[in-house]
Amino acid sequence: MAQIIDGKALAGVVRANVAAEVAQIKAQGGCVRFAAVLVGEDPASQIYVRNKQRACEKVGIEFELHTLPATCQYQDLVNLIRRLSADKKINGVLLQLPVPLNVIGNHLTEVLNLIDPQKDVDGLTVANLGKLASGDDCLIPCTAQGVLYAINSVCPNLMGKNVVMIGRSRIVGRPTSLLLTNQNATVTVCHSRTRNLAEHTRKADIIVVAAGCPNLVTADMVKPDAIVIDVGINRLADGKLVGDVDFANVEKVASAITPVPGGIGPLTIAFLLNNIVVAYRRQHGC
Ligand code: NAD
Repeated sequence: MAQIIDGKALAGVVRANVAAEVAQIKAQGGCVRFAAVLVGEDPASQIYVRNKQRACEKVGIEFELHTLPATCQYQDLVNLIRRLSADKKINGVLLQLPVPLNVIGNHLTEVLNLIDPQKDVDGLTVANLGKLASGDDCLIPCTAQGVLYAINSVCPNLMGKNVVMIGRSRIVGRPTSLLLTNQNATVTVCHSRTRNLAEHTRKADIIVVAAGCPNLVTADMVKPDAIVIDVGINRLADGKLVGDVDFANVEKVASAITPVPGGIGPLTIAFLLNNIVVAYRRQHGC
């Protein structure tokens, strides 16, 4: 049976470090402040933002929520992001995704790039993603960091490891594949147009899946003793929350596996908090 990688416990370690750093900054008279932008009234996005608020408050980071209605104009969003990005008191700015299509159209990249790269705590501006691709120091997307941290908890050295990353989104798949490549893993990126996914996954020492498809990874696709990291979050018709992995059967084959919930989710929030403190320190040269 696989070892269950306890994302909650790992996230607790990261959060405790962040809390200690924030306390130290406060003791020196500083204040770490984060602004989240939420457009529209999507219930899932409202929950995600509330979770971020609670997490910030627990570690002493000041949290500001800026909301715009789904009926707002594109220019309202542009003006708000510009204002927050220029505000010297704010250290981190995040645009909660997805933004309603009637507001953002096909301008998501343009709007994300309005965020000062030094405050881009989601790591989604082209400046930060470009640096990640170049192997340079930058603010790295939080989920990718959570995935690496979870893997490192059971496999500290990725040199020579074959990793299959399922998913190539801007927010998870692409940055994760870059981060793991920078850590000397040999990474194969698979996606919805990949032919014969199982042929790839069966060769992998580590499988990371972020597709949003329940039961996409089944036991027959997993090499014995592989590490399986499940980023997916799917709500089934009965209300149950599941990942992209057939957990009950894959845990019999894998050496280690992350659960859903309680795996990568808590680590993603913990690394958002960490990015906010990293951003503060860079802005203040401390
Ligand atoms: P997305 O829809 O932007 O991307 C999904 C990717 O999966 C695409 O690249 C697509 O090509 C690939 N894909 C889809 N179906 C596939 C299939 N059948 N075979 C192979 N590849 C397939 O989604 P996203 O934003 O990257 O999120 C992916 C999942 O991760 C979602 O369930 C999301 O809720 C979850 N997520 C979790 C966290 C977390 O903190 N745990 C953070 C972000 C996203």
